[in-house]
Amino acid sequence: MEVEQVLHMNGGDGKRSYASNSLNPRAVISRVKPIVDASIEKLCYTHLPTECLKIADLGCSSGPNTLFAVSNIIDKIHKTCKKLNWQPPTLQVFLNDLPGNDFNTVFKSLPDFYKKLDEKKYIEPCFIAGMSGSFYGRLFPSNSLHFAHSSYSLMWISKVPKGLVTKGGEGLNKGNIYIAKTSSHAVFNEYFEQFKRDFTVFLRSRAQELVSGGSMVLTTMGSIRSNDPLSIWEFVGLKLHDMVLDGLIEEKKLDTFNMPYYAPTADEVKEVIEAEGSFILQNLETFRNDWDFYIKQVNCGFDKKARAAILSTDIRAVGEPILASEFGEKAMDDLFCRFEEDVLDHMEKENCQFIDLVISLTKQR
Ligand code: SAH
Repeated sequence: MEVEQVLHMNGGDGKRSYASNSLNPRAVISRVKPIVDASIEKLCYTHLPTECLKIADLGCSSGPNTLFAVSNIIDKIHKTCKKLNWQPPTLQVFLNDLPGNDFNTVFKSLPDFYKKLDEKKYIEPCFIAGMSGSFYGRLFPSNSLHFAHSSYSLMWISKVPKGLVTKGGEGLNKGNIYIAKTSSHAVFNEYFEQFKRDFTVFLRSRAQELVSGGSMVLTTMGSIRSNDPLSIWEFVGLKLHDMVLDGLIEEKKLDTFNMPYYAPTADEVKEVIEAEGSFILQNLETFRNDWDFYIKQVNCGFDKKARAAILSTDIRAVGEPILASEFGEKAMDDLFCRFEEDVLDHMEKENCQFIDLVISLTKQR
């Protein structure tokens, strides 16, 4: 499986699209806003006045969140300039994602976005462009970017670790699709090594692209190894396993399939940043929330059944393209029905939570 070809969120703006089912990432962007604001303010102090400030959002996807983070960043730049009585710079914003991303929907939303900037009386121009390609490699010219932002994207690693399937075709992580309580240490190690390689390439690439003193705020899903709450993908794996038992999915398929995903701990993130050496870690924060916290936040009146239905559609919008590429489109309705049935009972029993890591970095001068 070539991750770059297969990985994307459900496109368009229909019932099952990422655009209609991305409330959790949106809540996370709001929660992280004060950290982004602090980083932008510092960047303005150190890099303005300048003619053009260049910003990138890495793993932008398509839907309301794509321009939500960007909009907050533009507002903060204008607020800071107003406070300092400086003229705001021209802005150039690059929206990056893999080639399979629904960039068309993103581009169609740009005229409305520009209109909103006009209504805010932002006179200096803002130019928004798409930049297709993997962030595990170079995307921009050297010393050209001032700020890079990424939310809920870095947990997608560049490939499924090769060692998870032996040369003889035997799966090392049988019955699971991600690190699970029953996975061996070797499985965990394969994943961790792939994460280390990928995150190092990510940091090295951004270090080349950012100007001296340029900064980044990265939010990713994380984990707490010593008392690891069950990952949502472990739960999806349990449901796929049930489908194997019911003869609906071939056992061999489940035994050899693994998600190209890794949720690191704060210490693992720190270790890679220090070893790579191009960045100063300004801030590293961890947030924990129940799997359905963001649904309760929007409507606390939703009962458990309604919350489970929303959570199921949300996880489907993210996981469907990659899961369907392996297990077939036909299996998806059944899989997510099973998911919906007892996901919240399971969450309560196992005390499952989403863990978010927010990493704020500055490039060494
Ligand atoms: N930032 C958005 C979208 C998160 S979904 C939000 O907060 O809602 C994660 C996105 O990361 C997906 O669109 C996926 O295609 C993208 N992605 C994953 N790996 C990537 C890579 N190597 N390079 C660029 N984008 C990637």
